[in-house]
Amino acid sequence: MTAKIIDGKALASEVRAKLKNRVSALTDKGHCPGLAVILVGDDPASQVYVRNKLRSCQEVGIKSFAHHLTKETTQDELLALIEKLNKDDAVDGILVQLPVPKQIDPAAIIRAIAPEKDVDGFHVVNAGLLMTRNKASAKAFSFVPCTPAGVMKMIDSTGYEISGKNALVIGRSNIVGKPVALLLLERNATVTIAHSRTKELAELSRKADILVVAIGKPKAVTADMVKPGALVIDVGINRQEDGHLCGDVDTKAASEVAGWITPVPGGVGPMTIAMLLENTVLAVENRLGLSH
Ligand code: NDP
Repeated sequence: MTAKIIDGKALASEVRAKLKNRVSALTDKGHCPGLAVILVGDDPASQVYVRNKLRSCQEVGIKSFAHHLTKETTQDELLALIEKLNKDDAVDGILVQLPVPKQIDPAAIIRAIAPEKDVDGFHVVNAGLLMTRNKASAKAFSFVPCTPAGVMKMIDSTGYEISGKNALVIGRSNIVGKPVALLLLERNATVTIAHSRTKELAELSRKADILVVAIGKPKAVTADMVKPGALVIDVGINRQEDGHLCGDVDTKAASEVAGWITPVPGGVGPMTIAMLLENTVLAVENRLGLSH
């Protein structure tokens, strides 16, 4: 079998094209969406991520406010900036690029962002709403974290029926693994979450119709761990010694077994940024009481 590729780059470009229309409708009404992006320090990978996010904002017409703070910035200084942005009506979304330098507690920073501006979806209020939402509370607005939202959109783009399938999520971080598992559960998959202490991982993964991998280990998931025909989403981004990026899945070999697979680069990465833009637009639409 040769897997079909789920092209995150192309899908992200479709999402951006649709967002452009929503942004221009809001801007015509005098509500141009605004995203504040805060970078603390000079981490090269973070600089690239921030640059890509700012460029994507520009592409769809979202106004961006870049705040580049030195690596010596104190927690109180960062909290003061967030407080200011929470009150700024031109700012609909606030994003602090992680990781932050060690003198700053990331949990305290995320807690300080107003939940209605937390477009990353990391605040406990948004995480809690995701955890507790059901059909009765479906109308309560919350932000879904960008990478998990992108993963779901990628699965849906294939027309794959999630309900009743066995899904394995490898990785249990608050920003990827746990929310992806909740979203798959919400769509009636039978979900297993694996992590570094999981025993017999290969056996588990060979039973998975849907396999989502977010561990940060280059090519750790090999072809023999993939069920024939499975839908494989590779969230991992790892820089190899030769400078090239690779995922957590051995894509080339796994493609011979899987039914669907995401590439790295050009898979989940571009979709994550597209979902950040969508959350920023949703922040404005929600504030104005508009549904799209
Ligand atoms: P974390 O380091 O926070 O979490 C990694 C998880 O993987 C942990 O739960 C860990 O288990 C588990 N794990 C590690 N090694 C193994 C193993 N050998 N077998 C099974 N489980 C293992 O990572 P993130 O969730 O933040 O990110 C994961 C990957 O996704 C990274 O490569 C990151 O760069 C990438 N990423 C990509 C994004 C995108 O836009 N494409 C966005 C966010 C992340 P335990 O809990 O037991 O330690």
